[in-house]
Amino acid sequence: MAWNVVIVGGGFGGASAARHLERLLPRQSARLVLVNDVNFQLYTPFLPEAAAGTLEPRHVVTPLRDILRRTYLRLGAVTAHDPATRTIQLTSHEDEVDELRYDQLLLALGSVSRLLPVPGLGKNGIGLKSLADAIWLRNHIVETLEAANASEDPARREELLTYVFVGGGYAGLEALAELQDFAADAMDRYPRARLHGMRWIGVEATDRVLPEIDADLAEYAMRELRARGVEIRLGTRLEEATSEGVRLSTGERIATRTLVWTTGVVPHPSLGSLNVPLDERGRVVVDQYMHVQGLEGVWAIGDCAAVPDPRKKGAAPSPPTAQHAIRQGPVVARNIAAELGIGTPRPFRYKARAAFVNLGRHKAVGRLGPFKFRGFPAWWMARTYHVSRIPGLARKLHTVADWTVGLPFGRDIAEVGSIGHPRPLRADAYARGGTHRPLE
Ligand SMILES: Cc1cc2nc3c(=O)[nH]c(=O)nc-3n(C[C@H](O)[C@H](O)[C@H](O)COP(=O)(O)OP(=O)(O)OC[C@H]3O[C@@H](n4cnc5c(N)ncnc54)[C@H](O)[C@@H]3O)c2cc1C
Repeated sequence: MAWNVVIVGGGFGGASAARHLERLLPRQSARLVLVNDVNFQLYTPFLPEAAAGTLEPRHVVTPLRDILRRTYLRLGAVTAHDPATRTIQLTSHEDEVDELRYDQLLLALGSVSRLLPVPGLGKNGIGLKSLADAIWLRNHIVETLEAANASEDPARREELLTYVFVGGGYAGLEALAELQDFAADAMDRYPRARLHGMRWIGVEATDRVLPEIDADLAEYAMRELRARGVEIRLGTRLEEATSEGVRLSTGERIATRTLVWTTGVVPHPSLGSLNVPLDERGRVVVDQYMHVQGLEGVWAIGDCAAVPDPRKKGAAPSPPTAQHAIRQGPVVARNIAAELGIGTPRPFRYKARAAFVNLGRHKAVGRLGPFKFRGFPAWWMARTYHVSRIPGLARKLHTVADWTVGLPFGRDIAEVGSIGHPRPLRADAYARGGTHRPLE
């Protein structure tokens, strides 16, 4: 009899676990199934560069079928779980519902942007967590430049050319730095907009940016951004967002059409319907072997799980980073195999030693063990590291080619928001011309 091993989530954690299970479990003794809602793995560290047009969006994803050897890929979302009968419910994109039985189940659903109860935020803000977010942001920025260049009204130009980013963690700061760099480059082709000038504003609730790295490196990053004209407001919160602007906790009102919200992540909300124990932040409660408390044959890793952090001696959960998820994969694969009688289990022991933050314009800050890096050397190390980690030789070559071509030719400013939104076959659909979603 063959065991059914089902993995839910094909991101950093799930895909790495699947690859290791393929090696650990003999073909005849285990059927491996990976359920994911899209057929690719997104390399999130490159998301800001995809948003900024430095990398072609398709080059920051790798098809899961290229990563997996013998794991069967099922597309769809897991919508329910019954631990008593050991089944999960799968809903396909066509809304067809199916059930999968498992002997071992691994949950690796990742996370979503954290949304706070700020009036108007859900409607007027955009996160940077998915490929769709990155593509939308790039096109939106090009649209604001186009509209500002065409406008006779200075107040409207001001609104269009002001960009507000809330959240000073690495994802937010990288996005701000890369997009500001992109817009500054693109400005050369928008003379009226350039004459008016842009405003880029970073808002952070605490008294420092980049809590993930040393204070002096964070200071360097802030100095670097300020030198480019980016305004950084520390100790400031977003109080309200409307379609015309934002209000900050200082009372300041800023007219803007662009509000990017990157204040961290929360575990994937679908965990709430999967009958697994969750902690106060919605993470699956697991032990150091990544086994889910009280449920036989159920495991969880990555952003969706509270895996005890060996660096903090298990007193706190591992941070939600790809570095951790990708290393939890092989360990949980080994523990699942051990549960099926192959090998011995092992606790999660990885202690993160490196962190890099890209600041655009060939600069970054970072730490590797006891060594700190800033400026060009840090940028070069971060790029080399990421190229080595993105799955698939084709993607490695594509990313290097994108960067190389971008050096002499600059970045593309074609606004391609209509991709994936074909016009209906009706004459009136052509009446407006232009893109699918014009700025109001
Ligand atoms: C902009 C940005 C930059 C980042 N940069 C870095 C970095 O430089 N270094 C670093 O270490 N980390 C970085 N991270 C964090 C990193 O992306 C996450 O920690 C990592 O993706 C977590 O891996 P995971 O396997 O838990 O989840 P994910 O990689 O998010 O994978 C989860 C998968 O599960 C799928 N899924 C979710 N729900 C369901 C469901 N119900 N049914 C089926 N499938 C489902 C999702 O679509 C996804 O494919 C960054 C994140 C962002 C947003």
